[in-house]
Amino acid sequence: MGTIASSAQIDPRVASFLATPRKMLINGNWVDAVSGKTFPTYDPSTGEVLATVAEGDKADIDLAVKAARKAFESGPWHKMTASQRGRLIWKLGDLLDQHTVEFAYLESLDNGKPLTIARAADVPLAAELFRYMGGWATKIEGNTIPLSVPYTPGAKYLSYTLREPIGVVGQIIPWNFPLLMAAWKLGPALATGCTVVLKPAEQTPLSALRLGELIQEAGFPEGVVNIVPGYGETAGAALAAHMDVDKVAFTGSTEVGKTIVHAATGNLKKVSLELGGKSPNVIFKDADLDTAIPGAASAIFFNHGQCCCAGSRLYVEKPVFDRVVEGIAENAKKIQVGAGLDPATQMGPLVSEEQLNRVCGYLESGFSQGAKALAGGHKAADKGYFVEPTVLVDTSEQMKVVQEEIFGPVVVAMPFSDPEEIVERANDNVYGLAAGIWTKDISKAHRTAELIKAGTVWINCYNIFDAGLPFGGYKQSGWGREMGHEVLNNYTQTKAVCARI
Ligand code: ADP
Repeated sequence: MGTIASSAQIDPRVASFLATPRKMLINGNWVDAVSGKTFPTYDPSTGEVLATVAEGDKADIDLAVKAARKAFESGPWHKMTASQRGRLIWKLGDLLDQHTVEFAYLESLDNGKPLTIARAADVPLAAELFRYMGGWATKIEGNTIPLSVPYTPGAKYLSYTLREPIGVVGQIIPWNFPLLMAAWKLGPALATGCTVVLKPAEQTPLSALRLGELIQEAGFPEGVVNIVPGYGETAGAALAAHMDVDKVAFTGSTEVGKTIVHAATGNLKKVSLELGGKSPNVIFKDADLDTAIPGAASAIFFNHGQCCCAGSRLYVEKPVFDRVVEGIAENAKKIQVGAGLDPATQMGPLVSEEQLNRVCGYLESGFSQGAKALAGGHKAADKGYFVEPTVLVDTSEQMKVVQEEIFGPVVVAMPFSDPEEIVERANDNVYGLAAGIWTKDISKAHRTAELIKAGTVWINCYNIFDAGLPFGGYKQSGWGREMGHEVLNNYTQTKAVCARI
């Protein structure tokens, strides 16, 4: 375990942000909850309270939706040109870049991830996402469509489509990449001209609230982005069920995703979902093992395995199985686990006590069903929510640890003999978010990629994300895509206009 960094090392801007109870952003104002209630957010490396945050519930969601509706239907946002909208979004990306260190601290303290990673990945990716989406604002176009209507012979028509913003959008995001998930959601909604009520995860509300300040600094009109922190069962449920919300975009567990779908039926609001995964990572015997071994380790251990696309089901062709799993176990044992602010830390704590108990519960279940740990297998400290990076072998498809999403640093490894059979095993899961393939045979790589039922397939790499690359799930991993130009479909609706001329 690395030493826990002392509070003296915290960036002073962050220290002052944490010291003040945080309010919610509604209609351009920072306000307390209608109920006056607050809730604590914790430092997962110590379990101690990090900050206090206004606790939104139905009453606050109502006010936020009202503000978002007003901003959508009238006022400056409604009248803005696409270019003006794009420039605001681009400016938000640039402002984020100017505050990289501050956001990295907030993210590391609230979520537990290493400061170095937040600084190198989370914050720059979020800034880049805003710039990418800012560029799209001026490129959302319809088509002209030639008509051949048989029952009006000789008539001429001019027909075209308009892609219009869906309206008021509720966005509910998780705690694993708090800032980046806010960016994935806000970027396309703003590019298309929607207005938003964002509910960050109760475990990690801080970076979204700080982002709200930058949104104001960038000059977005009041009510365009409203941010209501609070719990899922209260604020989240009220947003998903709200009769004046036109669309809900959700990232989180498949279980809650199904609840969101039910909640949305009242006004049949549109729904997009980015959900769980149990992604297969397949290493063939002809892979470059010097790349595949660290690649497979990083596929599961990046962000402490708290990635919906984590390469958590590892299939290795039999002749190289021992070498690969031993290599990954060596890798796991060398990972420096500690508090996010410690510069030596490579893996921080899990986000919450609930997650710690959940992951440890899965480990116990695996052991009780006969799995063996080549590395890790236990809680890693008395204080904080740390779990050892774990490699489980002697696992099989019937086990809970192989079928279910653990959302922690735990990989289950299984050998395979027949390259023909591996696709069926890889697809044998309710999820279909991502997959990895490691081989030097390019034909085999692309043939296998075609057969895998997943929204993303990485070949000889893993966890490569780009604002331009669509991301989302097959099967129970979701509806719709995040990022790329595909995400714009989530936030627009098509109007066909037909004129007889
Ligand atoms: P996890 O299980 O990984 O914590 P969740 O799916 O529970 O992830 O949470 C993701 C987001 O969904 C969070 O913002 C959470 O507050 C919200 N949420 C949880 N339950 C509900 C619900 N019943 N309705 C709406 N949102 C919810």
